[in-house]
Amino acid sequence: MNTSGTVDDLINRALDTAQQGGAGYVDVRVVERETESLTVKNGALQEAGAHLSAGFGIRALVDGAWGFSGSARLEPGEVERVAREAVAIARASALAQRDRIQLDDSPPVVASYSTPYVEDPFAVPLDEKLRILMEADAAMARVPGVNVRSSSMEFAREEKIFASSDGARIEQDLLEVGAGIETSAANDSEVQRRSFPQSAGGQHVTGGFEAIRALRLADHGEQLAEEAVALLTAPQCPSGRMTVIIGSSQLALQVHESCGHPIELDRVLGMEASFAGTSFLTLDKLDRLQYGSPIVNIDADATVPGGLGTFGFDDEGVPAQNVPIVEAGRFVGYLTSRETAPLIGRRSMGSSRASNWNVIPLIRMTNVNLRPGAAGTLEDLIADTKDGIYMASNLSWSIDDRRLNFQFGTEIGWLIKDGRLVQMVKNPTYTGITPEFWGSCDAICGESEWNLWGLPNCGKGEPMQTHRVGHGAAPARFRNVQVGVGQW
Ligand SMILES: [Zn+2]
Repeated sequence: MNTSGTVDDLINRALDTAQQGGAGYVDVRVVERETESLTVKNGALQEAGAHLSAGFGIRALVDGAWGFSGSARLEPGEVERVAREAVAIARASALAQRDRIQLDDSPPVVASYSTPYVEDPFAVPLDEKLRILMEADAAMARVPGVNVRSSSMEFAREEKIFASSDGARIEQDLLEVGAGIETSAANDSEVQRRSFPQSAGGQHVTGGFEAIRALRLADHGEQLAEEAVALLTAPQCPSGRMTVIIGSSQLALQVHESCGHPIELDRVLGMEASFAGTSFLTLDKLDRLQYGSPIVNIDADATVPGGLGTFGFDDEGVPAQNVPIVEAGRFVGYLTSRETAPLIGRRSMGSSRASNWNVIPLIRMTNVNLRPGAAGTLEDLIADTKDGIYMASNLSWSIDDRRLNFQFGTEIGWLIKDGRLVQMVKNPTYTGITPEFWGSCDAICGESEWNLWGLPNCGKGEPMQTHRVGHGAAPARFRNVQVGVGQW
């Protein structure tokens, strides 16, 4: 992005115009986001996309109410018009607003941040990317009985400048990469799917192309396809209350839905009630509720290397932080913004994020991570389990508005007998109630099994903002869980 005097002049113009219009506080974000995607389906290039979006957004606080406006035209006259519009919207909102917004006392920062990476994905030739996807496709194609194969990659580069009337000025260059493979097999009555490294587009991280190479997609294609075919003739998952071991990518999604969303403080305060829903983690539960068993520890960590929710500063200029959410099973923290944190007597922990220049920042997850435990490897944990089921790779999910009652289905399950996986089963599901479920967690695998998963498609807000968040998890064991057969 051009960060010469011109952009500085436009930023100053925006801040001055809004302040002269009566804004008590104003911030500007100038954002350029470039994305590229590639999909190979059944041996042929199905889709190759590239997209560039650039513009700026101005947020003004007038009489305790927000106004926001943005534009793709970075020109002096347009910047002044948009600044006046943001002020006018704020003034109109103030008339209808009951409670005045008050920002916390987060100090303004002047700094810059770039995602560390080795290999720029936008500089890797298309041929090389296609070769990796085609090799993965060919590996899946070697297995008879597979009928749909898909391999995909996605890259994004985001360059943004944040400046505020408090004196903040922050430049950030973020780089995101993702890739995955998926295959399905079908007979007259059913379809069975397997995906790697996880479902819904694969694994996503902040970093460079080296992370895509490290996935070694082709090495996993054949086994994945064999499992999809084998699932067709596998017995159905049993029903009843059982011991369940949940694989790390599925557990990451469990953390996302049953912890990440209910700790968004705007949801808790009812600000997202009409669209995203509310939360069972109401203010009276903070520091009191036993969310899980004493081995359950969850952090919101925007600083962990490689996380899809890792950055230098949020979109209010607050530095990335690592804050405890669940400590020894007790619920101790929320995801907050400068506007909501003072309502619980705290300072923002830096999770206010906008998916692009043309929308306001909302409270979004960073990397909400389950800390590793003491149960060693997955093999150790299975060996320590007499009877149960191991479930892996998400297939379906549903959870109520308050994030309390849930059901998840996974692509594959394995029955465990006397410490060994003895039988593949299909269509497994498990259901639960959030604190009861986490309360039944009696073992979490260690560091060597812990993986930081990226979710590129978390939706929130109106207009909908699709955002990129991370979740670290290791496989874990839960006792007395309701298990059944999914219908899809
Ligand atoms: Zn989500």
